Amino acid sequence: MPPSRLKLHVLSSGSGGNASIVEDTETGDCIAIDCGICKRDFLVRSSECGVDLSRLRAILITHDHSDHVCGLGVVLRGLAKQGALPPIYADEAVQRASGAIRKLRGDFEFKPLEIDGDLAISTIGVHAFRTSHDAASSCGFRFDCGDDSIGFMTDTGIVTPQAHDSLDRCRVLAIESNHDERMLWNGEYPYYLKQRIASDSGHLSNEACTAEISKLLWDGLEEIVAMHISKNNNTFPLATGTIQAMLDELDHPARLCCGRESRAVSV
Ligand SMILES: [Zn+2]
Ligand SMILES: [Zn+2]
Repeated sequence: MPPSRLKLHVLSSGSGGNASIVEDTETGDCIAIDCGICKRDFLVRSSECGVDLSRLRAILITHDHSDHVCGLGVVLRGLAKQGALPPIYADEAVQRASGAIRKLRGDFEFKPLEIDGDLAISTIGVHAFRTSHDAASSCGFRFDCGDDSIGFMTDTGIVTPQAHDSLDRCRVLAIESNHDERMLWNGEYPYYLKQRIASDSGHLSNEACTAEISKLLWDGLEEIVAMHISKNNNTFPLATGTIQAMLDELDHPARLCCGRESRAVSV
């Protein structure tokens, strides 16, 4: 078994707001992914998870949708008051497309995020890979530290070959399980929105998430986090039930939990 040096704290996950933190438990250094929640939730939930935000070394942005960036300004100002000024890494197209980011560029340090490239932030290696989503640009991440690794992918209609390769042999996999297909198509959303969500540039269904995880199973996989679960088109039991049935069938002991909007979850 690989050592569990990294921790993933999902502060919030879902269309109401997204923010997560990857922590190197040996150094205390950490990296945030997205900032689509209010300052209070970001600060309080980080502290509940035992994260020392003075050790926040970077904020990475997956894409420009507001549920991933709307809290960036208030959180950055809150962090600055505590003396923390982490650089923000976002693809140039995301920086251009996001009004929230454009407003902040004069006051905070934004760096270009190279998708398909590698980055070292403190002791943590970061690899950004392209996802398939209806945003200016979008990506997921793989984090490596020592022999430990976390794969993180939300907001993608399909799993690109690059994404699949990047998620290979991770100890922790946080992958979007957005909707139950039957609930989506029988639900209240207008047809264009249903089509958008189910499209190749929308979101992964429970079935698609489960299929991808089944291809990524290996002996070192310990934790699975079902992410970005829709309030309207999914339920926690449906999302986890689909994944757990596959794990049971293949007799794999990985633990499974859900990222939530209402509270932080750490693995
Ligand atoms: Zn989203
Ligand atoms: Zn999105």
